[in-house]
Amino acid sequence: MSGLTPKLNALKATVERLVESTIEPLAEEVDREGRWPSHSMQALAASGLTGLQVPLEQGGLGQGLLGLSVITEVIGKACPSSALCFGMHCVGTAVIAAKATEHQRNRYLRAIAEGQHITSLALSESGSGAHFYLPETTIRTEGQAFVLDGTKQFVTSGGHADSYVISTVANDIAGEAGDFSCVIVDRDTPGLEWQAPWDGFGMRGNSSRSLRLNGVRVPTNNLLGEPGDQVWYVFEVVAPYFLMAMAGTFLGIAQAALDATGQHLRTRRYSHSGESLRHIESIQLRYAQMWTALEKSRALVREAARLGDLGEAQALPFLLSCKADAAETAVFLANEAMTLGGGMAYRENSRVAQILRDARASHVMSPTTDLLKLWAGRNLLGLPLL
Ligand SMILES: Cc1cc2nc3c(=O)[nH]c(=O)nc-3n(C[C@H](O)[C@H](O)[C@H](O)COP(=O)(O)OP(=O)(O)OC[C@H]3O[C@@H](n4cnc5c(N)ncnc54)[C@H](O)[C@@H]3O)c2cc1C
Repeated sequence: MSGLTPKLNALKATVERLVESTIEPLAEEVDREGRWPSHSMQALAASGLTGLQVPLEQGGLGQGLLGLSVITEVIGKACPSSALCFGMHCVGTAVIAAKATEHQRNRYLRAIAEGQHITSLALSESGSGAHFYLPETTIRTEGQAFVLDGTKQFVTSGGHADSYVISTVANDIAGEAGDFSCVIVDRDTPGLEWQAPWDGFGMRGNSSRSLRLNGVRVPTNNLLGEPGDQVWYVFEVVAPYFLMAMAGTFLGIAQAALDATGQHLRTRRYSHSGESLRHIESIQLRYAQMWTALEKSRALVREAARLGDLGEAQALPFLLSCKADAAETAVFLANEAMTLGGGMAYRENSRVAQILRDARASHVMSPTTDLLKLWAGRNLLGLPLL
């Protein structure tokens, strides 16, 4: 692939080998059984890939947005649930790394770089839904600890990760009312109460569970940045990294839809005419449209990542639009794959059925497609996002 550094090309090749040997063979089982993909996360950790977003100084791979989009695409093509768990781990890692203290570098980032620690992100709540930047989970200070109360929803890798980056709002002297803060919470902290297992329409291996926080005590040195920094984290770190992890995953799904369609069109042959589907002109045209949509989306994602990594001011509308665009492309290609794949595709739990179910997560996962378009339009028209 053009435009990638030799290091990123080498990482991509490593992930392609892992996908072939370990991730792809169990992808169908992950979906069928709704099983969290521990084999994928272990293989990625053993190869140092879980340190993708850890700075070089802490032993990580020091990659940015481009690296995240490329690697999640490779995984997402084979097993979207694995890509999502890996992607949320990378977003959580980037959030920890953004303003890490020495304690956080030693306790979390080094362990992540060594493949000893998986993290995830818990922002969403049922109260604010798609407006994921408005937590109602409260944080208050008690001696040398913070105390957290509230409920998070859809926490990816819920119950499996070693830690969770959790967004909160101050309700006492720890900060002004309305001060939002992010903290790291370790998995065994007393007061964490996982709710029902995840049983999703798609992304079935994701373990996106609700989490009740009942007076959860967290050491004050687990605060990320300063009290009230959460809005900065959400828009400067969470959003770009999250958008790239999602865009990469959904590009991978779109590629899988294109590949499945191409395979069917080449091999489906009629006995009455001896023709295969690929000989039919209207189908050739539809296939070309699928390919074009995917290449356009990938180009937009790569450009957004490039501008974002350079810290260019004009990166914002690219970043916002590229995940919305990748979402639409994934759903469009998955729908086309279902139509052109005929009855074989329409079988329950066929590969294309899984692709379609997984693709549909793209529009509802925050920032949702509608909110992204709204924000891109506001930014392009010189208005604040919110
Ligand atoms: C598979 C999966 C994994 C997830 N993983 C995580 C995770 O790891 N961490 C995490 O924090 N969250 C996660 N989420 C949550 C997700 O990112 C969303 O925040 C959540 O699904 C949206 O909240 P909701 O379901 O309450 O939607 P609602 O708030 O009910 O929104 C429904 C629809 O209304 C639209 N809408 C709302 N307001 C507006 C508006 N002003 N203008 C236009 N349209 C609007 C939305 O775009 C959406 O399409 C995950 C979700 C899924 C499905």
